[in-house]
Amino acid sequence: MSVNPPGETPLPPAEHCVNHPARPARLRCTKYSKPLCDMCVACQDPALYCKFRTECLVWEIERQKKKDEGR
Ligand SMILES: [Zn+2]
Repeated sequence: MSVNPPGETPLPPAEHCVNHPARPARLRCTKYSKPLCDMCVACQDPALYCKFRTECLVWEIERQKKKDEGR
């Protein structure tokens, strides 16, 4: 039984990029819980092992980008 108190959302609806306070954040680093805008979509620690990578959208999108570029 999981309890989710009504009226309490884990995330505010309009989050902003950690690097660009003026830009809305579209994604979030799963490891650091950092909101990132389109421009900042990149793994925060690409050299470090990250156990969240398999579920991290940021990492996934960065991977896709590199795949597209490295044709
Ligand atoms: Zn940004």
